[in-house]
Amino acid sequence: MRETEAVVEDRESRPHRSAVAVPLTLPSKDNETVTDASIDIEISEVGPRDGLQSIEPIMATEDKKAWITALAAAGVPEVEVGSFVPAKVLPQLADTAELVTHARSIPGLAVAVLVPNLRGAENALAVQPDKMTVPLSVSETHSLKNLRRTHEQVLEEVRGIRAAISARPEDQRPKLEGSLSTAFGCTIEGEVPERKVLEMAEKLMEAGCDEVGLSDTTGFASPTQVRNYTKHIHELLGKDALTGIHLHNTRGQGFANVMAALEAGLTTIDASMGGIGGCPFAPGASGNIVTEDLVFLLESMGLKTGINFAKLFDARRVLHEALPQVELYGFTPDAGLPKGFSPATPQ
Ligand code: ZN
Repeated sequence: MRETEAVVEDRESRPHRSAVAVPLTLPSKDNETVTDASIDIEISEVGPRDGLQSIEPIMATEDKKAWITALAAAGVPEVEVGSFVPAKVLPQLADTAELVTHARSIPGLAVAVLVPNLRGAENALAVQPDKMTVPLSVSETHSLKNLRRTHEQVLEEVRGIRAAISARPEDQRPKLEGSLSTAFGCTIEGEVPERKVLEMAEKLMEAGCDEVGLSDTTGFASPTQVRNYTKHIHELLGKDALTGIHLHNTRGQGFANVMAALEAGLTTIDASMGGIGGCPFAPGASGNIVTEDLVFLLESMGLKTGINFAKLFDARRVLHEALPQVELYGFTPDAGLPKGFSPATPQ
């Protein structure tokens, strides 16, 4: 694990408190917050960024392009293709600009990137992604250690990024998301108070973000936390200010947390194909929640993802052939689809 940038997430931690049962009300198929009628829940594939930054081998640019193309062909609506960090920090992601240009050439695909600061955002703006995500570590100790910045310094970067976006023609302005990383707990500070999460969400919006996202960087989150934080941010800032969540499956709670997120009304879920980028301290544990299993969960509940299973497994093959030495996780690809299974999305 590298500890040099905030974009690199650590997952070491202590156990967390347990959840309390609540009534289950899931979004209906005609969820009003989703604008694309063919999709109920949007899956944002973060493997090319979060997965690839966490593994040693460097995937060849042409292989990454083929993978992104295959993901888009499967119907994945959004792909986070990389991060605008210096190549010396994350050599695995040095080709991010080229990947943005490639992904933008694919019709209908939303192209997302991570930007750690204004400088990264300026490099990103030169190639025009659809969305830029700036991480802010709610634990200030974590922020200082990994980003070497205080909260106020990060917020100053966000204000600069907003100004840089506003300076561009209206049709060339990417959406700006502030990601509340370590929102559910920190490997250094331990418990992160919820009031701090709410305070940082408000400050990110004031600094010019279009929305914020909850991020379980460390794999600490419980469904109760996911439900409560979402509810309270919605009450404080409105539902449009928070639509998505980024989950890791470090302790096997990823899909329980997805359920809590759906109940609370979130409509975008990050996931990574094959769950690549697993935790080095927990062999066999995946990194992000596994895209293939998430698609199965949602489709089996009657929620359309817009994704075709056969083509999704094709994309997994592209990834596996490019990085045969990297273990891919996922129950659904191993077990196959159940006999007679009929997904919500027409295949
Ligand atoms: Zn992550």
